[in-house]
Amino acid sequence: MKLAKALKSLFLIELLRGMRLTGKRLFSPKVTVQYPDEKTPQSHRFRGLHAQRRYANGEERCIACKLCEVVCPALAITIEAEPREDGSRRTTRYEIDLFKCIYCGFCEESCPVDSIVETRHFEFCMENNSERVIDKQRLLEMGDRFEAQIAADRALDRPYR
Ligand code: SF4
Ligand code: SF4
Repeated sequence: MKLAKALKSLFLIELLRGMRLTGKRLFSPKVTVQYPDEKTPQSHRFRGLHAQRRYANGEERCIACKLCEVVCPALAITIEAEPREDGSRRTTRYEIDLFKCIYCGFCEESCPVDSIVETRHFEFCMENNSERVIDKQRLLEMGDRFEAQIAADRALDRPYR
């Protein structure tokens, strides 16, 4: 046993094995992606930064039912609501703590009016701690920015909804 080990060491067997593996991979197609110049394919169900959607007439979809707040396993959503003058119920505060969020998608699954969604946008960062909380205004801005893509992605899943 010891002799075999010594011979392996003497003839650099392990090194040659490693070099053989390197040689085999040398001319095979490269799998490394040069991010951010190159991107990997993304599912239309990708769960990135959240957004709140509006109807075509500009009215926000959210009816302040708080289902998303209840279902959120990370307790990341905070909602306060009041009735409007016209009697409709709307949020006065809708916040998501992005440090608590685990991007599970339960909030969008629970929403009866397809208001809160997770977009495909994932290239975001924060410089201050206070920026971790995304408020209603920013969520609606995200919705306005990505509405075309959100609607197209949802249409792909329509048979299952
Ligand atoms: S994605 Fe999951 S963890 Fe994040 S806010 Fe929605 S329900 Fe909560
Ligand atoms: S986003 Fe949807 S689930 Fe959450 S409070 Fe609004 S309507 Fe209800």
